[in-house]
Amino acid sequence: MPTVTLTNFPKAELHVHLEGTISPEMAKKLAKKNKIKLPDDLFTEDGKGYRWDSDGTAAGNLVGFLKAYDKVAGLIKSAKDYRDITYDYLKRCAAEGSIYEELIISADHGASVGLSYKEMVDGIAEGVSKARKETGIEARLLSACVRHYGPEKAVEVARQTASYPHELVTAFHMAGDENAHSVEDFVPAFEIAKTAGLAISAHAGEAAGPESIRDVKEKLGCKRYGHMVRIVEDTAFMKEMEKFGAVPEVCVSSNLELNVFKDYADHPLRRLFDAGFKVTLGSDDPPFFKTSIGREYQIAKEKFHFTSEELLRLTRNAIDAAFVDEPTREKLLNKIGDYQLNLLSNKRALRNKRR
Ligand SMILES: [Zn+2]
Repeated sequence: MPTVTLTNFPKAELHVHLEGTISPEMAKKLAKKNKIKLPDDLFTEDGKGYRWDSDGTAAGNLVGFLKAYDKVAGLIKSAKDYRDITYDYLKRCAAEGSIYEELIISADHGASVGLSYKEMVDGIAEGVSKARKETGIEARLLSACVRHYGPEKAVEVARQTASYPHELVTAFHMAGDENAHSVEDFVPAFEIAKTAGLAISAHAGEAAGPESIRDVKEKLGCKRYGHMVRIVEDTAFMKEMEKFGAVPEVCVSSNLELNVFKDYADHPLRRLFDAGFKVTLGSDDPPFFKTSIGREYQIAKEKFHFTSEELLRLTRNAIDAAFVDEPTREKLLNKIGDYQLNLLSNKRALRNKRR
């Protein structure tokens, strides 16, 4: 394949938290609109990201990150704000070449600012359709419970999600602290979601080791895992999960910022891909980790030496595993196919010119 610029290269993202996408620019807008005073030290010097306390340990970094995250997420006050942050994020993704985004949304967060689940979803859906109309980007939503809020809250989120079926909400997800409670406690919530016809996924193998992945697989029956990177600690289980067809949602910058791995050389992105996993990329909480989905592809290319074919494989993996209806999946796969054909015909034209 000829060298490609990554800007219009088709990308897809399966792992990003909606509140974690708010850019500093958007944060300032929301703060002004909602009359909230933001601490000056919240932003990085270049103004492109957020500063948070880091003591160099994984646990300490997580605490610092969550504090900053809560300050920023706390700026959302209305359904309109949800619409605006969704539209703003999807537009930025489309400008980087993303054709598909799955956003993890939190009913608990909506409730914390006094919004019903329906009001929150309707606001987000407005943002999705506005961005889709303008850019062609597709998106779906994963309604997430927060593990450390406990199983009862999770059941509540599952019930709310099931009682308001929405064409864009295609899955139920579990986010939050992987070490809180046991996975078994969340079976009732996932049963409600499954009965409602929702797909399922959960965070595992990031803050906790391979056993957290095994738990999620055996107790909940997930095929897609938020992160899953720590599976490399158990090579036998790794083989088993590859055969099972497990899909890891890998967020390299997030892992490095939160000290899950110390550097690129230590990070298992390449190892998982070469082992046969249908790896996908995600930015998790992009401005907090000084990244974007475009940058994650760039990192795969530059730091992990993914070829254009391999990068395209990452996008294809994401679309194959996406929680979408079949006609939409087909449409998205065609976009990748068209891009590939274009590349090949450019290459041929270039060769003929040289002759
Ligand atoms: Zn996450």
